[in-house]
This record gives sequence, C-alpha cells and structure tokens, in this order.
Amino acid sequence: MSDTPIINIQGLSKSFATKSGDQLQALDDINLSIRPRSFTCIVGPSGCGKSTILRIASGLEKASLGQVLYKGDPVVKPGADIGLVFQEYSLFPWLSVLDNVAAGPEFAGVDKQTRHRDALGFLNMVNMAEFKDAFPHELSGGMRQRVAIARALANEPDVLFMDEPFGALDAHTRILLQQELLSLWEMTHKTVVLVTHSVDEAVFLADEIVIMSARPGRIQDVLTVDMSRPRTRADKAFGELSE
Ligand code: ADP
Ligand code: MG
Repeated sequence: MSDTPIINIQGLSKSFATKSGDQLQALDDINLSIRPRSFTCIVGPSGCGKSTILRIASGLEKASLGQVLYKGDPVVKPGADIGLVFQEYSLFPWLSVLDNVAAGPEFAGVDKQTRHRDALGFLNMVNMAEFKDAFPHELSGGMRQRVAIARALANEPDVLFMDEPFGALDAHTRILLQQELLSLWEMTHKTVVLVTHSVDEAVFLADEIVIMSARPGRIQDVLTVDMSRPRTRADKAFGELSE
C-alpha cells in the first residue's frame, strides 16, 4: 500500500468579504495530507471552516492562499474523482431513486442499460435496491442519505467527501448509517474524508482524526487511531436497531 498522499492540502487560507466590507478569515494555514484508502474525520466546532475545506478541496470554491493537490495536481474545478455527500443532499425530487443514482453517469454519456445496471449495483451496496422505483419524498432521511451515498459512488470516485452526512438524522438511524458506511469503506477501499462536529462520530469512524479550532480555523491536532480497535458503541446498538 502506497503512502504517497492522495490529497495534499498546502498552506491553505481562506478569507471571505463580510457585508460591512471587512475580511473574515475562515481558514488559516491548513496543512494536511490524506493517505489513500484512509478514513479521515475532520472535527471541530461550528464555523471553524470544515465545510470550507471540503468546498475548496473539491474545487467548488477558490483558496485565498495555498493550494490543494489531488494526486499531485492542483484542484481547480469539481471533477469525477471526488464524490460529494452533504447533510441534506438534494436528490432530484422528480427522478426515481434509480435515475438519481444514474444521473452522473448519464451526464458522462454512459448508455442507459449500462448506467441502470451499475446504479442498481450501487443501490445494492447501500441496501436500497428494492426502492429503486421510489421517489425521494417517499423515503426516510436515512434512506435518502443511503441513496446520496450510492449516487456519489456511481461516478466511481477515488475519494468521498462527506459534509456532516448524518447530521440531520435521529440518533438510531445515525448509528446504523455510520456502521454501514464503515462496512462500505472496508469493502470499496475508497478514501473517505468526513466532516463532523461530533467527536463521538469521529472516534467511531476514523483512522485519522483532524481536530480544528475556530476563529480563524486552524488544525489543532492530528490523531491516528488504531483501526482494529473494538467498536463497541455502534456494534452493540447495531444488533438491536433497525430503521
Ligand atoms: P463549518 O463547516 O466548520 O461550520 P464553514 O466552513 O461553513 O464552517 O464556515 C467557516 C466560516 O466562514 C464561518 O464563519 C462562516 O460564516 C464563514 N463563511 C463560510 N462561507 C462563507 C461565504 N460564502 N461568505 C462569507 N462567509 C462565509
Ligand atoms: Mg459546515
């Protein structure tokens, strides 16, 4: 396994212009290497710049200073290499679950038969195949996030960026989805970077925990966690819960 970072965040700073004409410094000199196939959680208080890091690293927003490298090349615009899952992922309400998952590949020009077959495969991975013909409004929040994950996987990215993906879910559903995500990560060998304000979630999921402080957002500490540790909290709950 190569230890060459898949993502390199170098001297990243970001300021926003405020309404009063001042500058708000959201990020100050963020330096971070993400190893391929690692599960990194970025944890910190609301407003410390977690979402801004993901937005810049995925090419949705520009850095004020510094850069983000993906496999050695600067990230300048969104691409298929990085899949995104947000807290409230806006699935297309007018498309079925299957067509939502197949939307990215359709945009990329994949033929209908292939993209529907592949989409079904990704829905299987998140246990949502039986809901392929449902529409987003017919699904629970947890189910919608499963579809959002399948949809992100459908572009076959190497990296998944997840911004508080379980933040809007009730506690039981959140634990279920955390467990499922961990299994998915072990199965697919994707590199995952997940942002959360929950230390608990980071400790459960991550093999690398990046702790941030606010105003301006800085990295306070990076902890490496033993992935073979027992995960009693969710393991215990997982056996007893269902949605
Ligand atoms: P987090 O995700 O950790 O809660 P954000 O990255 O969303 O934090 O925001 C970090 C800081 O930058 C906050 O103070 C936020 O108000 C500010 N900010 C984020 N995006 C913008 C923007 N587009 N314009 C102005 N200020 C912004
Ligand atoms: Mg945020």
